[in-house]
Amino acid sequence: MSSPINPTTTNARVDAMLTALRAAGLRVTPQRAAICRALVTSRTHPTAQVLYNQLAGEVAGLSRATVYNTLQTLVAGGLIHDLGEAGDGAVHYDADVEPHVNLICLRCHRVDDLPTTALDQVAEQVAGRSGYQLRGARIAYYGLCPECQRAQ
Ligand SMILES: [Zn+2]
Repeated sequence: MSSPINPTTTNARVDAMLTALRAAGLRVTPQRAAICRALVTSRTHPTAQVLYNQLAGEVAGLSRATVYNTLQTLVAGGLIHDLGEAGDGAVHYDADVEPHVNLICLRCHRVDDLPTTALDQVAEQVAGRSGYQLRGARIAYYGLCPECQRAQ
């Protein structure tokens, strides 16, 4: 959910990511730690390129390859979601893996979060009827954001 950024929660979530990287056999470097922290504190569903641009100036020795392999490992470990592209040809990532709705603007390519309790009922029904133990959910609606509608 889009709760305010809480330092304790942030550290716990970064630690969980670093543990997952280690478990996958990746070395935990200052560069990878910075990527995890940026993901946890971001509200903008960044792409790999956006993360790289954001961090390259402040993290010495950061390479695009490190950004990509860190993101891939976190996706494989279920710590972040690969949202697919938002009409801009680049994959966006979401560090919030609690069930919530993503809204993707087809014009400006922003990705917003919409917390909703309506999904609890959906998850209950999905788990009950499929027998799956659910670990997360990804639901995206596509359209035009309010700003882009006004600009039309
Ligand atoms: Zn828009």
